[in-house]
Amino acid sequence: MKSRVVLIQILVLQLLVVVCVSQNYDFFYFVQQWPGSYCDTSNGCCYPTTTGKPATNFSIHGLWPNYNDASYPSNCDSNYPFDPSQISDLVSSLQISWPSLSCPSSDDTSFWSHEWDKHGTCSESVLNEHGYFAAALNLKGQVNLLQILKSTGIQPDGGFYNVNSITQAIAGAVGYTPGIDCNKDTSGNSQLYQIYLCVDTSGANFIECPILPSTKCSSSIEFPSF
Ligand code: 5GP
Ligand code: 5GP
Repeated sequence: MKSRVVLIQILVLQLLVVVCVSQNYDFFYFVQQWPGSYCDTSNGCCYPTTTGKPATNFSIHGLWPNYNDASYPSNCDSNYPFDPSQISDLVSSLQISWPSLSCPSSDDTSFWSHEWDKHGTCSESVLNEHGYFAAALNLKGQVNLLQILKSTGIQPDGGFYNVNSITQAIAGAVGYTPGIDCNKDTSGNSQLYQIYLCVDTSGANFIECPILPSTKCSSSIEFPSF
């Protein structure tokens, strides 16, 4: 009798462990932004205090746990807030690949902190804080969106491009169809703002998107310079 109770206790404990460490999301969106379009709005932008104007390149907005039905978890664990000391070895890479363009100017840390607290804590069963930021940097290194677009003649020259040709250029090079997100410039023109790629729950491999974000883009969109 006693051994049966102990067995049940062990089984319940094992179940708890499985529930606690299994990830509670279906995939990630890896979202990159075009700085030219972040800045070219009525809100404008501000350059980071420590590093100044970022490189003319797409930069990371975030790595966002998501569900297959398009909903997503957020702010999952206030007990594990952003701790800059965990990622001190990544700071110089993050300053290049994940700069903050919001105003007033900051040293980027508040942007990283926001992304960790809102999104990163929802995948902490798989990626701790260091793993989360390292995974985003690794994904950024796997695809060079600007080079892909330029190689098909799509340049950040203030010109207008067919949104399908942008989607197809990236799909052809990466092997997976991206989501394209637009915002508006000061004259109301639709412009290329963000590119979404989907990533498996490990945070290491691109996958076909289970669901693409709804697009706000016109058929022809501006690709502003930066
Ligand atoms: P917006 O409303 O400007 O598109 O998004 C505001 C914020 O909501 C984003 O920066 C992001 O934090 C979150 N968000 C928007 N859409 C999605 C989504 O499809 N998936 C996830 N995980 N977060 C999103
Ligand atoms: P979201 O909730 O949309 O993922 O995060 C956006 C938040 O990060 C906003 O509060 C925004 O002000 C801040 N932020 C700081 N720098 C940037 C940036 O370069 N791009 C974007 N999209 N948001 C930034």
